[in-house]
Amino acid sequence: MTQTILFSQRCFLEGTLLPATVYLREGRIEKIVEGDALPEGATDLGSAVLMPGVIDAHVHINEPGRTDWEGFETATDAAAKGGITVLVDMPLNSAPVTTSVPALQQKLDASSGKLRVHVGFYGGLVPGNAPEMEALAAAGVLGIKAFLTHSGIDDFPNATEADLHAAMPVLAKMGLPLLVHCELDEPGTTEALQQNTSSYNAYLSSRPKEWENKAVQLMIDKCRRHRCRVHIVHVSSAEALPLIAAAKKEGLPITAETAPHYILFNAEDVPDGQTMYKCAPPIRERANNELLKEALCAGTLDFLATDHSPAPPSIKELESGNLAKAWGGIAGLQFLLPAGWTALKETMTLEDFIPLVTAAPARFLGLDDRKGQLRVGFDADLVAWHPEAPVRISAAEVAHRHKISPYIDHPLFGRIAQTWVGGAPQLPLSGTQQKQGKWLFRK
Ligand SMILES: [Zn+2]
Repeated sequence: MTQTILFSQRCFLEGTLLPATVYLREGRIEKIVEGDALPEGATDLGSAVLMPGVIDAHVHINEPGRTDWEGFETATDAAAKGGITVLVDMPLNSAPVTTSVPALQQKLDASSGKLRVHVGFYGGLVPGNAPEMEALAAAGVLGIKAFLTHSGIDDFPNATEADLHAAMPVLAKMGLPLLVHCELDEPGTTEALQQNTSSYNAYLSSRPKEWENKAVQLMIDKCRRHRCRVHIVHVSSAEALPLIAAAKKEGLPITAETAPHYILFNAEDVPDGQTMYKCAPPIRERANNELLKEALCAGTLDFLATDHSPAPPSIKELESGNLAKAWGGIAGLQFLLPAGWTALKETMTLEDFIPLVTAAPARFLGLDDRKGQLRVGFDADLVAWHPEAPVRISAAEVAHRHKISPYIDHPLFGRIAQTWVGGAPQLPLSGTQQKQGKWLFRK
């Protein structure tokens, strides 16, 4: 295989942006030379930031079974366009749901030959399947996902406390994280929404912060009891942050993420009847979201992930604008890098931002011995991009199966110049390129 030589004035090396040349060979980073001399045969990327490929640890691809919602080809194409070189697929939304090893095998079969970027998988915890945890872990899943409220998919019911108590000791022994959708629902919150199904405020008040706060506290208590790694997905209530911070200070093995849509958009600005903004937990008010940003600076929240959860236009109720009926999920995979950076660029430096989408998720996933940093011997998964460049990504430029996203035509910063997967450039996307993406299993 040939050698690729990349020079940039702004290479992200060990936390610093500096001029350097990165040599790629046979899918690995072969050599890194600091300094602003442009070697012969090098591609001059100028001032584009050259950094490790972005890692999205929370994606719903829907294949097999709901490939009309999204699929491995469209999702991994969108990832590559967005500078993402690793994503991890959630166990629900596919049919079958990934709650056993045979179901995982079906997902592997369905994705074979279709991956433009590397893809790992989570298994699922549902009522009664705790005995599957050991086999799923042995099969290489990168974590186990559970819901504390209805998941939106009838085939993936929420775990009960009994299920958590059965599974968590096993996961603790295996060192596998339990990823938890933290909302504990209570009756009586949906009346306003039923009366005015297009009101965003009514939708927001139908899923209050208390649901999240209580669920986070419950999981902290379970984490303390079982010493099982617990990861709170898509934190949206800022009131849960002090709980998470205290649990970390106590030394509990707890991590947490939020998504770009919770910090880029604010409830005050979400128009009524615009179901593309519907997700669960909901996008909350500005003052809340400022605290989420601060928590990313402080390390209370560990990283950003998209929770890409697309649906066809009819299921998203685009025409009716019915927020009660619409699928709850935001399509954001392709936008992680520019949307995350746009949301945070007034809050933190680029040097502090980059690890939130590279090294931090790599560490969480147990991939940090080969991904998430530009280091000799690490995998040649990289992105070059222009963080200062304003962009408005049109529907035509979106590679998701459905061009429905609140990020489309939204003013953002960060133009992707090139994405390398296993050393091979992916842009512009072409059907004839060899697909370099590999399955990622836990070692
Ligand atoms: Zn999700």
